[in-house]
Amino acid sequence: MAVRPAVAGERAPHRPGPAPEAPLHGPVIDWFGTHARDLPWRRRSAGPWGVMVSEFMLQQTPVSRVLPVYEQWLARWPRPADLAAEPPGEAVRAWGRLGYPRRALRLHAAATAIAERHGGTVPDDHDALLALPGVGEYTAAAVASFAYGRRHAVLDTNVRRVLARAVTGVEYPPTATTAAERRLARALLPEDEPTAARWAAASMELGALVCTARKPECHRCPISASCAWRLAGSPAHDGPPRRGQTYAGTDRQVRGKLLAVLRAATEPVPQEALDAVWDEPVQRARALDGLVADGLVEPLADGLYRLPHG
Ligand code: SF4
Repeated sequence: MAVRPAVAGERAPHRPGPAPEAPLHGPVIDWFGTHARDLPWRRRSAGPWGVMVSEFMLQQTPVSRVLPVYEQWLARWPRPADLAAEPPGEAVRAWGRLGYPRRALRLHAAATAIAERHGGTVPDDHDALLALPGVGEYTAAAVASFAYGRRHAVLDTNVRRVLARAVTGVEYPPTATTAAERRLARALLPEDEPTAARWAAASMELGALVCTARKPECHRCPISASCAWRLAGSPAHDGPPRRGQTYAGTDRQVRGKLLAVLRAATEPVPQEALDAVWDEPVQRARALDGLVADGLVEPLADGLYRLPHG
């Protein structure tokens, strides 16, 4: 039986078990073959640009909310050059209510760089992807893997949770991705590229559909027989408390309301139109200042505001 490579800093499983890569890859990939959701960015027709758009949108927004915006986005901007040809404010407008709208600006900047530096084609190389503005380690790995079938560890929250439970034997991964998690994910990568790419997508889907954060459905999990956490009796999380995200009353909520006014407007809007969306003046001003500082709102000389024209 093969022995999984030692991973420095990895927390030991609660019980000695069989080498995880053998029982993990095959069952998870088989399960993916019959249970994967038919999502538009997984279709061949999506192409690398469709994959990249989806990865930007899915980073902090659930699939159900991304789907309609994604479809409209690709219909309007089927190629990076189409998006690059428009002002960044149009990207912010089309972002709608996906949240964290700086992603729209970053996607616009990436599209511009692709159009200028790569002849309008999303690069297939991880380093070239990473060099694009707004593209971090996760997105570069995801696009290289999902769009081009390359071999990369793609560590999103779903994959991290699956590995934490199935291999490390703990209920939740650390708050932020650690070097030990990256080493573990790399050590678990199948050797050949197509299988590695399939594993990346399959393990992510398992975390999204079965090994969910609050209620893992171990009875329908293809690796329950070898899952370190389950075999240890599903011990309760003993790390730092996990905080849920609050939204109501936060600056994020105010920013969302201010941006909604600007997205709906075809002309620059006066301050009063923005003041009407939130009663508390200090928080409202702070939120507007933040939007301006982030480049999401452009103040004009005559006291008007609009989405950025680039
Ligand atoms: Fe997650 Fe349960 Fe499957 Fe383990 S057995 S990987 S905890 S769903």
